[in-house]
Amino acid sequence: MRVLAIGIHPDDVEISCGGTVALLARRGDEVVILDLTRGESSTNGTPEERAREADEAARLLGVARRFNAALPDTGLRSEEPDQVRAVVRFIRAERPHVLLLPHADDPHPDHAAGGLLSRHALFLANVNGYLTEENGRRQERWRVPRALVYNGRKEVRPDVVVDVTAVHEVKLAAIRAHASQVGGGEGALATPLSDPRFLPVVESRDRIAGRRVGATFGESFELLAPLALSDFTALVPPGT
Ligand SMILES: [Zn+2]
Repeated sequence: MRVLAIGIHPDDVEISCGGTVALLARRGDEVVILDLTRGESSTNGTPEERAREADEAARLLGVARRFNAALPDTGLRSEEPDQVRAVVRFIRAERPHVLLLPHADDPHPDHAAGGLLSRHALFLANVNGYLTEENGRRQERWRVPRALVYNGRKEVRPDVVVDVTAVHEVKLAAIRAHASQVGGGEGALATPLSDPRFLPVVESRDRIAGRRVGATFGESFELLAPLALSDFTALVPPGT
């Protein structure tokens, strides 16, 4: 199984669905992260620091590869053809079975734009007449079988909750790896992430999600398209 998780900034995947990424990677799935921007407009941390932190977090999560599309931070535009094309190119190159997408309804303008941009790219990746190239060769179209939207600053409708209890410590360690963002170290300017209450909020959110499925910690996802079923076996827990 190949899974591609798209984030806007280099810490978004960790904060929103890092537990799911870590869990799938431990299961043996090939998980790839694509960060759309280098976070060069961040209040804290340089792009170089952030790239090092992202690499360390990727190592902790156990992902196969992590890429950065280097699209402009604070300049993401879903209607910008070159930006959409860059994301389509990644989707067609990685050919994921499952795509984890940012929530398009988010008060952060880059997150909102990145969510929409990802959805446009998801659609266009399967359009045969939409041309992209890789190493001078035309890429084949790719239909992503399943797309799941993860939480942003607004909660998604919890259609799916992944039990991440077994890897929750890994998720928190991967978030802490972004020390320029969550450390609140010397000289750091105040942001929602540098606030010492930030990690407890992430933990609380994950506890509430987990509670919905009888787990200690969970991560919620919204389905972009309905699940097709021919019988109800998948709806009933095994052994009941
Ligand atoms: Zn972000």
